[in-house]
Amino acid sequence: MAGAGKKSPVRRHEAGKKPRGRQKQAPAGERRDVTAGEVWVVIEHEGAGATRVSWELLGVARLLAADLGSRAAVVILGDGENGEELTRQAFAHGAAAAYVVDSPALTPFTAEPQCQALTALARRHSPEVILLGATTRGRDLASATATELETGLTADCTELEIDPESGLLRQTRPAFGGNIMATIITPGHRPQMATVRPGVFPLPEAESGATGEIITSKPHLAAEQPVRRLQFLPNIKEEVSIQGADVIVSGGRGMRQAKNFIMLGELANELGGVVGASRGAVDAGWISPRQQVGQTGQTVRPVLYIAVGISGAIQHLAGMQHSDIIIAINNDPAAPIFDIADYGIVGDLFEVVPALIAEVRKRKDGKDTGVVANLTDAADDPAGSEAVQ
Ligand code: FAD
Repeated sequence: MAGAGKKSPVRRHEAGKKPRGRQKQAPAGERRDVTAGEVWVVIEHEGAGATRVSWELLGVARLLAADLGSRAAVVILGDGENGEELTRQAFAHGAAAAYVVDSPALTPFTAEPQCQALTALARRHSPEVILLGATTRGRDLASATATELETGLTADCTELEIDPESGLLRQTRPAFGGNIMATIITPGHRPQMATVRPGVFPLPEAESGATGEIITSKPHLAAEQPVRRLQFLPNIKEEVSIQGADVIVSGGRGMRQAKNFIMLGELANELGGVVGASRGAVDAGWISPRQQVGQTGQTVRPVLYIAVGISGAIQHLAGMQHSDIIIAINNDPAAPIFDIADYGIVGDLFEVVPALIAEVRKRKDGKDTGVVANLTDAADDPAGSEAVQ
């Protein structure tokens, strides 16, 4: 079953493109002027290094702002040390403006002063939309700020788009245990706020030398805050992160036992990738929850995703459906994973995986150009691509 067509049960939509399908019409009283305020992205950073999700969100913000006839801006909350460097990076990633807010109380991160600063800034400039990463910090800051601003917040969005009729932000996320995708709007309050997990949207290309408007402010924030960071203890436990990996070989309940993940590790190793898992495998205790892909795990978009013994539940698909190439290995030809796979291999994984490892090794020994490279080419031309043997 090679080269199966993508019939995603989850709506695949890149933010900013014209919405497809049935449009929800806003009641006449809710229609708004679509040249309203800006789309903001709050940059999460440690020193001069911003998190990747910040730039991913900026890519979406630009598309949303274009649909609104507005501009995308970033908010950099810090102590003045790294504002210049972060602003430069923000312009390179497509921001038209940067609000740089400096106060000693803003570094290191604690939610209270950051919330005070962001709330005051939003009250002053009335943005239409504020986006934050659905990270530990982002969730903390977003919920506190939405409460202060008395507005709505949609967490963990997987799609964002502007309704062309109403100009409202359509915020789509899994709901009811991931069994449906719900589209949420905030018709009566501003700003419209949303968080998005890392990896949901692609990273925009950086263009060095780009410039934009810089708006600086120095709010008076109380030096004494109710919460203080006493010490920072980095996570030193060695775990291979699936976030940002180009190749992920994921195993599900079909793996039967923890020790069978060793062969997935071998395949991942040969392909220069890492091992992921379904929740089925995590719940069975075969692999760390940190490797879980899906709605309650991590969202990934590697070049190559190999799903081994994974049925393709909607909650799993929510975390990997934007991978460039998906290969599914399953002995059930009716498994839903085949609906979104670019390549499907119907067979016993205990035969298929060792055969794949042997094949990859053989090609490497023969100095072949590399399976991943070939598959990447195939992603650009799926119709003309060869089936994986
Ligand atoms: P199964 O559904 O049991 O599938 C195992 C597959 O292996 C089957 O398709 C079978 O045909 C195949 N198989 C068996 N033996 C072999 C063999 N020898 N060779 C080849 N194939 C074989 N799930 C996630 O993955 N990530 C999440 O983040 C997540 N979040 C959730 C959140 C909520 C609120 C809920 C309710 C559920 C969530 N789930 C999540 C669980 C999800 O609904 C599924 O239960 C889970 O993904 C199933 O895991 P699985 O595909 O490994 O197992």
